[in-house]
Amino acid sequence: MKPHLILIGFSGTGKSAIGREVARLLGWPFVDTDQEIVRRAGKPIAAIFAQEGEEAFRTLETQVLADALASPQPTVIATGGGAVLREANRQHMAQAGVVICLEARPDTILQRLVQAEDEVRPLLAGPQPLERIRTLKAQRQPLYALADWTVHTDHLSVDEAAHEVVRGYDLARRRFPQPADADADLAAIVHTSAGPYAIYAGWNLIPTLGQRLQRIGLASTAYLVSDRAVFYTWGRKVQTALEEADIPTHIFTFPPGEASKTLDTVRLAYGWLASLKAQRGHLIVAVGGGVVGDLAGFVAATYNRGMPFIQVPTTLLAMVDAAIGGKTGVDLPEGKNLVGAFHQPRMVLADAATLSTLPPRALREGWAETIKHGLILDAHLFRTCEEQAEALLGLDRQVTVPVLRRSMAIKAAVVSQDEKETKGLRILLNYGHTVGHALEQATGYTDYLHGEAVAIGMMAEGRISQRMGLLSAEGLERQRRVLERFGLPTACPGVDPQALKAAMAVDKKRAGKGLRWVLLADIGRAVVRADVPDALVDEALREITGR
Ligand code: NAD
Repeated sequence: MKPHLILIGFSGTGKSAIGREVARLLGWPFVDTDQEIVRRAGKPIAAIFAQEGEEAFRTLETQVLADALASPQPTVIATGGGAVLREANRQHMAQAGVVICLEARPDTILQRLVQAEDEVRPLLAGPQPLERIRTLKAQRQPLYALADWTVHTDHLSVDEAAHEVVRGYDLARRRFPQPADADADLAAIVHTSAGPYAIYAGWNLIPTLGQRLQRIGLASTAYLVSDRAVFYTWGRKVQTALEEADIPTHIFTFPPGEASKTLDTVRLAYGWLASLKAQRGHLIVAVGGGVVGDLAGFVAATYNRGMPFIQVPTTLLAMVDAAIGGKTGVDLPEGKNLVGAFHQPRMVLADAATLSTLPPRALREGWAETIKHGLILDAHLFRTCEEQAEALLGLDRQVTVPVLRRSMAIKAAVVSQDEKETKGLRILLNYGHTVGHALEQATGYTDYLHGEAVAIGMMAEGRISQRMGLLSAEGLERQRRVLERFGLPTACPGVDPQALKAAMAVDKKRAGKGLRWVLLADIGRAVVRADVPDALVDEALREITGR
């Protein structure tokens, strides 16, 4: 239960400036306890020290800190350099949040304090300030060392340090139990070269959207992009949430389905934005499944050389996969997703209540991606899928929301470590996709939904894993049973294995090098292998097609 992000550290380590930037990045409120003390006392800190003494100042500080920590909303709190001196403060901070210490060398601190134009810190007044800093800092060092995380700021800009703090918060929080209710909607933070962004998942989150956008400074004008089926069920609710937060909205809708994911639709969207004089600081809001997210994201990546956008995914597939990671694009007649760009959203807000209107088949195919996340990286998630299949298919919110969050967090972690698929980690997400894509292509994208094709692909690739001496027969059987419990197909009888091979060969040509297979070494552990004999592939394809 540690939602807050609390900055401690000596004066001049950058707590106020960095804290403010961290709050902006996370979209959280910011409290600077020194500023709050000045506001409440109606006089500068030096005057409180001079007129009332240090003890009175410390008592006021304890009160201000306690009030900030009592906030039900996750908050970034920058404390004064001496806040750690009181045992009660330390205990309270450790209970209520992740404590991050900002560090700097004494000479850096002195330089910063001299350059700062705010009031002189009373404890640093007098001759030989460098010595005074060294002594005081050394005295307090054992208390600063109690922090959960430390960021050295000497050679970092405010922006760089803020990103480091967010990263530290995320890593340190893994050691703690589930966050408090107020923060429970946060599934993960995605770290990218363009900065971090939050992904939220919960039940009935759409009404909170306007407020969340205000917190991250994206509340100017919103251009809502949706398909016509989604807009009238969920898009309107998004529009209402934005308008209630005084965010002007404009609407662009197109016919639902993959057939709309084209440059023609993109052109129409460009024309719409131009007619409304959309500016670079305005926001594109994608409300819908992967088609809407990919298309709206591509428009956002390219119009005005890039506009901020957020994702409000409404299919399970989009929530756990498409909306996270910044891959945007459209199809050409020559092939799917041939034109596109990496463009990260500024927020992903998954409202699980939207899943209640999905047709059962679409829900089932979405769970295939979550099962895949369990199979490749998280045996515990896989076990939950095994044990809770009925609850997940029935959208029992107590079970669905945590599983959704975990699945989104896995995609977020992979993307954070391998944003542009250059480090060999993102490829793990392709488990089941080599054969799955081939099956979609060979059957003209009509017979199988994507998740269904991936389920069959996972069976083929699971079999290859087993024949390669990696996955046990029992592991493969568990995979088959869980897919069946979710009503997903595990074979594609009647499909020509030669057609699958031909489709795989086209993919291989496009990749430009030998086919690298994502296989399972165990449930929850994927590996990449380039040495799969053709004969094993043929055998697996014959097994899933029954020919
Ligand atoms: P989709 O967006 O076409 O949605 C499927 C159908 O469900 C549509 O008819 C839509 O109107 C309807 N729908 C959406 N939300 C609904 C709701 N809450 N209630 C009722 N109906 C609803 O398809 P999808 O399956 O979400 O996504 C597939 C697309 O995602 C493909 O184009 C694929 O290429 C892309 N994709 C992208 C990534 C990525 O990383 N960018 C990853 C995977 C897939």
